[in-house]
Amino acid sequence: MKQYNYSDLNKSDIQKLVQRNVDPANEIRTIVEDVIKHVQQNGDAALLDYALKFDKVELEKLYLDKDELSDIAASVTDEQKAALQIAYNNIYRFHQSQLKTEDKVETMPGVTCWRELRPIEKVGLYIPGGSAVLPSTFLMLGIPAKIAGCHKIVVCSPPQKNGKVNAFIAYVALLLGIDRIYLAGGAQAIAAMAYGTQSITKVDKIFGPGNQFVTKSKTIIQSTTTTAIDMPAGPSEVLVIADETANPAFVAADLLAQAEHGMDSQSILVCTSAAIANEVAAELDQQMLVLPRAEIAKTAIENSYIVVTDTLDNCMKFSNEYAPEHLILATTNWQSIIAGIINAGSVFLGNLTPESVGDYASGTNHTLPTSSYSRAYSGVSVDSFVKKITFQHITPEGIKNIGPSVEILAELEGLHAHKNAVTLRMKE
Ligand code: NAD
Repeated sequence: MKQYNYSDLNKSDIQKLVQRNVDPANEIRTIVEDVIKHVQQNGDAALLDYALKFDKVELEKLYLDKDELSDIAASVTDEQKAALQIAYNNIYRFHQSQLKTEDKVETMPGVTCWRELRPIEKVGLYIPGGSAVLPSTFLMLGIPAKIAGCHKIVVCSPPQKNGKVNAFIAYVALLLGIDRIYLAGGAQAIAAMAYGTQSITKVDKIFGPGNQFVTKSKTIIQSTTTTAIDMPAGPSEVLVIADETANPAFVAADLLAQAEHGMDSQSILVCTSAAIANEVAAELDQQMLVLPRAEIAKTAIENSYIVVTDTLDNCMKFSNEYAPEHLILATTNWQSIIAGIINAGSVFLGNLTPESVGDYASGTNHTLPTSSYSRAYSGVSVDSFVKKITFQHITPEGIKNIGPSVEILAELEGLHAHKNAVTLRMKE
């Protein structure tokens, strides 16, 4: 892994280091714009074309229904079902706690304001399935959508080589009570959910992570259609902060766990001495040897790096500049630096809290902002699936109390109809 000394880096070096997934020649954009146009014009036929072109499978139809999903799910073992059930229960419990009724607030006597939640009616879930199939993502999106009460849940996932979805995705669909999965992946699946096709309903908001084609498609449709997106959740990344209290084997394992996601993943180590950096690098080489996805991890590690600094505070400064999707504090001193975290999608505290537990089963959501979007976006939660509508009610006492101020404010803005709407009521 490349190594840098924090003290040698100037502002512009740091800016270059923290930049990722840039598409300078707009190559991804050009491909994705073409795909979106084709889907917009040709609907289902375009999806069948792209399944053949990108997923190398000739589909007879674009979806699998409940009976087919049940047949596919039959191969899931009892042990696997039990593990999925634990993940389901923990994710459900954590997300259920996010559904809160807010108090009504009497801002002045007779003037009451409050907010109520309403589910987004039609949502689209993208479940990645290119280099790895991710039933865990299905749980992470399906559970909050169900808790929020979304009426229509459209699910798209790339077809596997046999023209189906894998058994775990099918099983999770049954767990969630979702009766249909559309066999569409990549930019074309996002376009289909944004524009609608003969068989896929146009949705109000699209959720889910994916590769650069998926993420670019989401960002384009967000600005060109009335369909919203959860966030740009692209190729995964982790930043580990480690000091001398860290376990180098654990740190190396965490870096590799991220790297095996995809060749465009990034695993960054920021540590307080060159000795720690070297120990972790040696561990990483060892552990890489036995990884089935070593080729993918190796490329991702080549695009990753280590920054050596002298204090945990400087580690945190770099981390805040990077704004990681996942942040691991591999130190027994995590409590003393937690307040310094400004930008991160999800944080893992101490030496016994690997990112993998959050990826699968602790309860938090793993659909998180990447590429420094954690500066402004949060990860997916029940909030992402609801709208918070404001309400207000004014009593006779309230209109007397607030009316004169509103009349003056309307007058100073020159909006006389606004003033009149209050004056008439005050006369009543
Ligand atoms: P994917 O489902 O995102 O993409 C597969 C699809 O990409 C294919 O179906 C195909 O249609 C399209 N595609 C592939 N090559 C193409 C090409 N040359 N031109 C146009 N389209 C093409 O699956 P994936 O590729 O395995 O990627 C999953 C991604 O999701 C990884 O990068 C992983 O890091 C990321 N991820 C992110 C989070 C998060 O919260 N940010 C969580 C889980 C996974």
